[in-house]
Amino acid sequence: MTTYDSKDSRNLILLTNCEIYTKDPTIAGCNNILIAGNKISDIFYAPPGKHTVPERCIEIDCFRNLVIPGINDAHIHLLSSAAVMNQHSMHSIHSKDYEMIAKTLTSIKTKHNQSEWIGAYGLDDRFFLDQNFDSQWLDKFALNKPAFISNETGHAIILNSKAMQMLNISQTDDSLLHGVIDVAGNGQLTGKFFDLNSAIFHKINAFTNQFNADNNLPKLFTQLHQKGITSVQDAGHNNKIDKLQRLSLITDVNAIRIGLMIGCNIQNINDLASIHQEIDTNMVKFIGLKIMLSEATGDYLPAKSELEYLVELSNSKNFRVAVHAVEEQAIDMTLDAFSSAHKFYPDIINRIEHCSEYTHSVIEKSKTIPFYSVTQPGFILHRGDYYIEAHPKDKHNDLYPLRTMQETSHVLAFSSDSPVIPPDPWDGFISAQSRNTLRGNRLGTSNERLAFDEIVDCYTTNGAIVEGSQDIKGTLAVGFLADLAILDASCIGSSNPTLLTILNGNIVWDSEALVLTLH
Ligand SMILES: [Zn+2]
Repeated sequence: MTTYDSKDSRNLILLTNCEIYTKDPTIAGCNNILIAGNKISDIFYAPPGKHTVPERCIEIDCFRNLVIPGINDAHIHLLSSAAVMNQHSMHSIHSKDYEMIAKTLTSIKTKHNQSEWIGAYGLDDRFFLDQNFDSQWLDKFALNKPAFISNETGHAIILNSKAMQMLNISQTDDSLLHGVIDVAGNGQLTGKFFDLNSAIFHKINAFTNQFNADNNLPKLFTQLHQKGITSVQDAGHNNKIDKLQRLSLITDVNAIRIGLMIGCNIQNINDLASIHQEIDTNMVKFIGLKIMLSEATGDYLPAKSELEYLVELSNSKNFRVAVHAVEEQAIDMTLDAFSSAHKFYPDIINRIEHCSEYTHSVIEKSKTIPFYSVTQPGFILHRGDYYIEAHPKDKHNDLYPLRTMQETSHVLAFSSDSPVIPPDPWDGFISAQSRNTLRGNRLGTSNERLAFDEIVDCYTTNGAIVEGSQDIKGTLAVGFLADLAILDASCIGSSNPTLLTILNGNIVWDSEALVLTLH
């Protein structure tokens, strides 16, 4: 690593010999980028070896590797992603493969006998619908230690008997009113809980520090830097206004840029309208209001009229709304709500998160109203086999048709939705380029694949647009923030191509593959 003093804002970095990712013809032939402080101060051409390096400047010879704007993961759950870092992934276990769960639990137990709890996440949703999957089944493999497993989307969790006993869980528990406690025919709790994960984690965190998100955040930030990520957008629909300050306190200039969404309700809209001018900090910024539109109880909540009201009220205060909408009907409702708000507030473009079932009727409606789509190409790789099993073949073309989404939404931006899948944009590249799944199937037609440049845009420039930061980042240009990644593009598809990452003018990840010289 370099002996770069990150506190010295006057520090200079000169990238030489680089291939610059740009659409600007005046920059296209350039091969040098000069960074001063936290901004890009010059982009120019010099014949190789003929550039002059300022004093006290770190020169990075890029060996003709590609320099792109720092990657922006436009939809992530930061604290949950940090919390699962001490849990075991069960993503790769196929539905019905109970033997594999048993094997995994047994190996966790032997490997981690020092820790009190056994925690796992990412298990196929379908296990949670099976009556035989209950706390007593779990007890067979984790009897003396408290254990939990949450599902892929983080909406369901199962506890073993020991955990239920330690957490003192009963049907009359006041803190568990807002979700579903599963009860068997004999009146006994099955150990399964739906839409209660955060309430249960709250209880677990009172017992143990093992899954405390704050402790893991620095490790998570390093992982993101290693992948070339310099910005994320936190999409928690329960985020409160005080989270802005909390995140500001635990991030520093080398951490990550965070665009924070805040839960969309009347109280938050009004509170934000009076204070939002003052709440942004250097690295943490309020970017919009989040609505979770889901069908947990059979009807969509919020109902259509409330959804329309919330979108309009938010837009009237000049705030963008981001609606979680996965199914065709949810997307349809959302587009209607956007459409009515748009008549009064045409300057605001709202966003749809996931936008998964992009059917013919969605496509037709999408042409009538501008909106941003923020989706997850990596779901094709990680969850594609599940989609192929769970949906009839004639529906496969409707799932994440990336090219159609790009053509019919105002802007398409990419993200991971971590911890649902790992926060790895390079998985997203593979998915978007090939539409291949982990088991080698292909989801939908190859017409919906995107080219390399289009994918880079979805992860950089477009990510900045959907959060409203396109004037300061997301593009390599003079005066823009010095957030960038140097890539060995030939590695994409086989390994992480990130050679070096610069965030806010500081080197935050260095693979040591490039030569750095201090002048
Ligand atoms: Zn999400």
